[in-house]
Amino acid sequence: MLKSRAAVVTGSTSGIGLGVAEALAKAGADIMLNGFGDPAAIERERARLADRHGVNVLYDGADMTKPDQIRAMIAGATRAFGKVDILVNNAGIQHVSPIEDFPDEKWDAIIAINLSAIFHATKAAFKGMKERRFGRIINIASAHALVASPFKSAYVAAKHGVLGFTKTIALEGAEFGVTANAICPGYVKTPLVEKQIPDTAKARGMTEEDVIQKVILEAQPTKNFVRVEDVAALAVFLAGPHSASLTGAAFQIDGGWVAK
Ligand code: NAD
Repeated sequence: MLKSRAAVVTGSTSGIGLGVAEALAKAGADIMLNGFGDPAAIERERARLADRHGVNVLYDGADMTKPDQIRAMIAGATRAFGKVDILVNNAGIQHVSPIEDFPDEKWDAIIAINLSAIFHATKAAFKGMKERRFGRIINIASAHALVASPFKSAYVAAKHGVLGFTKTIALEGAEFGVTANAICPGYVKTPLVEKQIPDTAKARGMTEEDVIQKVILEAQPTKNFVRVEDVAALAVFLAGPHSASLTGAAFQIDGGWVAK
């Protein structure tokens, strides 16, 4: 379905990004992986994806807080694949803390990685997409792009920003075959969520088990975590041939969370 397409997936060494990269590769796209981690483990994963799905898979370790590295990654993917058709802006971090104690540097890092990096990557990829009259920009936002939770001021602000940015780019790309959409997952069991459980327990004065049951799963009427592979399947659909008229939208995949 995505044969001869080329994709860049930021933050794809773990969690949702890795799942999206694998699903796009399975659908036939060449992939530029990105993200942090153990170099040997990343190389094993890169080789596994290439071998298993018979596509080209490259890796660029660009730090999403560094605009020049982001631009170099998009330029590198364009050189290697001849183009970037699909840009999945996925890299993200979280910090949970009451506003009075929220560290300034965590605010800055969350805005840089979860919001500004999307601006820099999209800006770098957009011109080529417009010229080729095909582009799929898929921003992994969050249910927190639509509703808030306490103690996540930076994350909620960044994710609401992602949605505004997505709508703007959808309008700018509309006449050029370039779509921009946001996927808004509820809780997905990845390292990002696992890491925030102790801090949420502290901020709310709860046990960690209570956080899972009364905060995380309570948010989602299905009472289940969202599965990485389901988020990935939605991304493949948005990248695919039936998505030309889907643009500027926020796709909730949250077990009913924001319907409440
Ligand atoms: P994760 O921690 O498993 O993965 C995050 C990825 O981002 C990793 O590959 C990491 O190396 C990369 N990354 C972090 N900082 C980076 C930087 N400075 N430069 C480059 N790469 C960097 O997290 P995840 O849960 O898979 O989250 C992926 C995205 O999905 C995030 O944008 C997150 O906000 C969003 N999201 C997650 C959930 C959830 O419940 N897990 C829910 C809604 C939205």
